[in-house]
Amino acid sequence: MSQDFLSHISNVLKSIEADGLYKREREIAGMQAGRIKVKGASGERQMVNLCANNYLGLADNAEIRKAAAAALDEFGFGMASVRFICGTQTLHRELEHAIADYLGKDDAILFAACFDANGALFEPLLTAEDAIISDSLNHASIIDGVRLSKARRFRYAQGDMDDLEAQLKQADADGARFKLVVTDGVFSMDGHIAKLKEICDLAERYGAIVAVDDCHATGHIGEEGRGTPALTGVGNRVDIVTGTLGKTLGGAMGGFIAASQPIIDLLRQRARPYLFSNSLAPAVAAGSLKAIAIARAANDLREKLGRHTTRFRDGLTQSGFTLLPGETPIIPVMLGDAVLAQRMAKALDERGVYVAGFFYPVVPQGKARIRTQMSAALDDQDITFAIDAFADAGKQLGII
Ligand SMILES: *Cc1c(COP(=O)(O)O)cnc(C)c1O
Repeated sequence: MSQDFLSHISNVLKSIEADGLYKREREIAGMQAGRIKVKGASGERQMVNLCANNYLGLADNAEIRKAAAAALDEFGFGMASVRFICGTQTLHRELEHAIADYLGKDDAILFAACFDANGALFEPLLTAEDAIISDSLNHASIIDGVRLSKARRFRYAQGDMDDLEAQLKQADADGARFKLVVTDGVFSMDGHIAKLKEICDLAERYGAIVAVDDCHATGHIGEEGRGTPALTGVGNRVDIVTGTLGKTLGGAMGGFIAASQPIIDLLRQRARPYLFSNSLAPAVAAGSLKAIAIARAANDLREKLGRHTTRFRDGLTQSGFTLLPGETPIIPVMLGDAVLAQRMAKALDERGVYVAGFFYPVVPQGKARIRTQMSAALDDQDITFAIDAFADAGKQLGII
């Protein structure tokens, strides 16, 4: 291999490091949970985990593990085929029906991840004659998916309904045949919920289709955990929902699109990440099926999650921290400066609290933060422990 090429790659790595953006992975010895064992230089340490997308705490759920283990024995380890050749088991159709039923849609289609679902969505449905109007803070996978389609692209400032209307008008002025508005249901960096009622109203007025990526909501937000469309009362007005099996719904892996029958049927014919990628592993499909059943009935876990969210928000606010306002279990603690956010993350680590700091370019310059996420896997003592650790670390660093 060319030495020039390798030294170029090494220089890119050095510049990532120099910018303070180099990501290092910590290793968890055991299951994802509220308390995790983290491998360190001096052996394993127990930590309170505030940064998993394990909102209902199902990642280590015993019933789900049992369902997955049973499927491993009954359906085998893997399919070694894409769905349309010989990779569709009764389990896959059962899971698709369960997702469709859960979200109130005709049908659903599975993918290896929601990243793939978003990569698959736009290209088969829209052409150069059409327009996609996308929130500026949408997830990277939506941005990539939009790029893969030939449709004209319009972007509106995050949550800005005047701008959305202006873009819808512009798309019409440019002669768009069909228009599709796409938004995250919950924006993962801020924890804000999309204004779906207003978006649906505008979409109706301008004859646009609405797609919502509800990865940070399905399972724990809205009635039965049916997500942000259910929460905002527009369940039957959102045309397309994309989501993940890799967060609340067991946290394994897999993504889906739920929509009306012709949309799903066409995606099965044309969606490239579906046609050219292996089927979900049977154990993942069976575990996810169980996770959906558990999530639907889990009012107790949603109530616990809400209680933790309120307590943690109140505790940190009373300690003097600045939080972004919101109602989801995503609670960003705003620190502004990237170096300060890194020092805070380190101070919390030393105190046994596992968090993640986010800074530019993941969030805007000067808006560095520790993003915390609540989970029903945590108990009341864990919340107290975390609030105390934040207060102690914050005082030491002169933040509060
Ligand atoms: C996590 C996430 C994804 C990706 O989901 P995977 O199933 O992990 O690929 C896509 N969109 C949003 C909004 C997400 O939060």
